[in-house]
Amino acid sequence: MDKSKILIVEDDKAVCNLMSTTLEVQNYQYHVAKNGKNAIMDVASYCPDVMILDLGLPDMDGVDIIRKVRGWTNMPIIVVSARSEDMDKVEALDAGADDYLTKPFSIEELLARLRVALRRVRFDREKFSEDASSYQNGELKIDYAAGCVFLDGEEIHLTPSEYRLLCLLAKNTGKVLTHNYILKEVWGNTINSDTQSLRVFMATLRKKIERDSTKVKYIQTHIGVGYRMIQH
Ligand code: CA
Repeated sequence: MDKSKILIVEDDKAVCNLMSTTLEVQNYQYHVAKNGKNAIMDVASYCPDVMILDLGLPDMDGVDIIRKVRGWTNMPIIVVSARSEDMDKVEALDAGADDYLTKPFSIEELLARLRVALRRVRFDREKFSEDASSYQNGELKIDYAAGCVFLDGEEIHLTPSEYRLLCLLAKNTGKVLTHNYILKEVWGNTINSDTQSLRVFMATLRKKIERDSTKVKYIQTHIGVGYRMIQH
């Protein structure tokens, strides 16, 4: 039985009932907040493992909730929203959401995304208890202390920018990082932020860490949004 705690933030009664019934059947523990103010209080007091968040709430925009709670928690946030434009997705992901599902959604898909989010929670916890001076994912290894990267035991040489880019993706394994977020974190600003040069850096990094150029193993592209390090 999975005793993970899920916080549902949703003001639409029908959608809320559908989600809570599904979670109940799947033996998850859950709690419901119908507005932004309660959602923020519940994140602090209920300490959910994952939050499923609607963006259009009566008192607050869901994106503001993400920004507020990201100040103190890393819990996965899955946005479930009727807003389907790329810009809405980018805004929510930039604010710190982990995943984005557009309404109407299938229950199977929501459950699948939830399982991915919960895997990340477990992965983070295991990582936290392990030696954090290195990172291992499949054949890829980063030795943070030495600043070295290995592929199948063989050292590969990265430029400082490629190394920072790889460390950022590794630190956020499983999460989609938006172009803006990457540019800001790796190069320190988004002025003249230019996704074309990011694409070039990404291509050279990939050449070095992807053994098979026809099949993505580590760095996945999300067209129009960003990149994600795949967990192996
Ligand atoms: Ca709503």
